[in-house]
Amino acid sequence: MSFINNWLRPDIKAVNAYHAPPSTNMVKLDAMESPFPLSDELTGQYLTYLADAQLNRYPNASANELQQTLRKLMDIPDEFGVLLGNGSDELIQLLALACDAQDIVLSVEPSFVMYEMIAKFAHLNYQSIPLTNDFEIDAGAMQKAIETHNPKLIFIAYPNNPTGNVFNRTVIERIITSTKAMVVLDEAYYAYATDSFLADIAQYPNLVLLRTISKIGFAGLRLGLLIATQDTVSQLDKLRLPYNINTLTQVSANFLLQEKNTINANVSIILAERQTLFDELVKINFLKVHLSQANFILFKAPNANELFEFLKENSILIKNLSATKQLTDCLRVTIGTEEQNQKFINIVKSFYD
Ligand SMILES: *Cc1c(COP(=O)(O)O)cnc(C)c1O
Repeated sequence: MSFINNWLRPDIKAVNAYHAPPSTNMVKLDAMESPFPLSDELTGQYLTYLADAQLNRYPNASANELQQTLRKLMDIPDEFGVLLGNGSDELIQLLALACDAQDIVLSVEPSFVMYEMIAKFAHLNYQSIPLTNDFEIDAGAMQKAIETHNPKLIFIAYPNNPTGNVFNRTVIERIITSTKAMVVLDEAYYAYATDSFLADIAQYPNLVLLRTISKIGFAGLRLGLLIATQDTVSQLDKLRLPYNINTLTQVSANFLLQEKNTINANVSIILAERQTLFDELVKINFLKVHLSQANFILFKAPNANELFEFLKENSILIKNLSATKQLTDCLRVTIGTEEQNQKFINIVKSFYD
């Protein structure tokens, strides 16, 4: 028996580690990253700006300037508070840390896997309500779960990952008003969706929003934000490690997120490409393609495992979800550049020829 095997909590030993597959020399369409690198022109200016970073000093603990940059980028009203995290994953962890052991965390399934993993690591009791066949929230089952479990935290991704849809707004409003839980709407894909609950924070004191810059071009910077009432943010801020946003991230984001026009232009390209890819996939008779309000598309394919492997042999990496409950034979492809999407489509077509 190795040391760590004796030492470690059994529930952690039992967890399957979060798995990021090798992707060297692959067309990477598996992780909802933006396919657009920095332009050469911007890179030059960026490096000059970065040269002034004082790496011998600790980062600015409150990251004030970065807060202002993000407020401008996302049109966050001054009246709301903003809490920054090392990716929104860290903020999910911070919320779990704020709970008592055995508190109930409620979500839906299938959804973002980190809600469950983090809840379990923090000794919380995770419960999930299956989505309906068309990936909507089962409003009745959710209300019942709220009554029986009295959850402390409710996580809802809006749009949802991995299904790509936004849930019915009225159902979510009813959840918010019928629970004492903090309701966390995870808007990681806000840039690709037509609706948001940002303005609703003014109306619902128990509503908290998560956003990230990972899906709009900057996954490598690791920066997420929690948006809520000032009250909520100033209390939760006590749990944040003082220097959680490192200097390179602060300086980089301050410079790069000023480029709102470029960011929006790239989002527009992805939206147009999403439509093209959707239309192309729908034309393949064997597939069931789901509408998406995010930068990925979920589709059901006969022989999904074989198709996934065939794509991999042809240097295209997507996400295989076929072993996930309710997602038998489902694959998820991130929207890439026109060229990448075309290559993907051609290989899928040749698989079914
Ligand atoms: C990608 C994703 C995140 C993680 O964002 P990071 O800021 O990169 O940690 C959070 N929630 C959902 C629903 C996601 O899809």
